[in-house]
Amino acid sequence: GVSVSFSGPTRIMTISNQKGGVGKTTTTVNIAAAIASLGGRVLVIDLDPQGNASTALGVPHNAELPSIYDVLIDDTPLADVVRTSPESENLLCAPSNIHLAGAEIELVTQVAREQRLKTAVGEYLDGLDEQLHFILIDCPPSLGLLTINAFTAATEVFLPIQCEYYALEGLSQLLGNVKMIQKHLNPQLQLTTILLTMFDARTRLSQQVADEVRSHFTTEVLETFIPRSVRVSEAPSFGQTVISYDGNSAGAIAYREAALEIVRRGTADAEEGQH
Ligand code: ADP
Ligand code: MG
Repeated sequence: GVSVSFSGPTRIMTISNQKGGVGKTTTTVNIAAAIASLGGRVLVIDLDPQGNASTALGVPHNAELPSIYDVLIDDTPLADVVRTSPESENLLCAPSNIHLAGAEIELVTQVAREQRLKTAVGEYLDGLDEQLHFILIDCPPSLGLLTINAFTAATEVFLPIQCEYYALEGLSQLLGNVKMIQKHLNPQLQLTTILLTMFDARTRLSQQVADEVRSHFTTEVLETFIPRSVRVSEAPSFGQTVISYDGNSAGAIAYREAALEIVRRGTADAEEGQH
C-alpha cells in the first residue's frame, strides 16, 4: 500500500462554495473516507440541514436523534452527538437533522453566535484520548450563520469546483467572504485546497475550466481531479461513500489520490513551519 504519515495538530477544513450542486457533500464524505482508509482519523461535521453527508456515511439522522443542532443551540457537548460510520472505525460523523434548518434564525439571538461551533470543537478536541487528524465540515451553499460558524471554526477552506460552465462565477464572492472572516473572526483561515470535480475528459469545456482555475490558483489546486462517474453519484443511495461502495472505480481511485495529496501537503507545510 501507500506510505503516509499523519502528524501535527488536527486540520480543520470547511468544504465551501456558494453554489449548490458542485460536489461539496460528495467531496466531504469521499475525502473523509479516503483519509480513513489511509489510516487517518477523521470527523465529518454535517452542517447542512439536508443531512446528505450523514446519509452517505450511513449515520442515522432522524428528527428525534441528537445532532449538531443540539450542539449549536443547546450547548450539548459535541462528543455526545458524534457517531462512528459503519464504514470504518476511523470515520466519525456529527450528523445534522431537519432541526438545523431553523438554526440559522435561532442563532441570531444567541451569545457568541459566530463562535459556537469553534468553541464546541475546541472542547471536543481537548477531551479526546485518541488523536484526530482531520475535521471536515460540510456546509450549506448560502453564507448564513451556519457557514460563518464553519469558517470561524476552521483553519482551512477547501473549495470544490465543478468543471462546468460558470464554474468561476461566485468565486470572487467566496474569496471576499474569506477575507471578511479573516479580518473580523478568524485570522488563521486560509484557502489551501481546490479540487476540480465532475471532470469530463470527453469535453473541451472541462479542460478549459481546469486550465483557467489552475492559472488563477497555482498552488492551491490539487493535481488530481475527480471524474464524472455514475458510481460516485449512486453510492449515497446505499448509505455508502464510493470508497466502500466500489473501491476500484475511477471515482474512488481519484478520491484516494486527492486525499493522499492533501495529507502529504499538510505534512510538508508543517515541516516547513518548524524551520
Ligand atoms: P453540493 O453538496 O455542492 O450541493 P453534491 O455533492 O450534493 O453537491 O453533488 C451534487 C450532485 O452531483 C449529486 O447528485 C451528486 O451525486 C453528483 N455528483 C457529485 N460528484 C459527482 C461525480 N464525480 N460524478 C457524478 N456525479 C457527481
Ligand atoms: Mg451538499
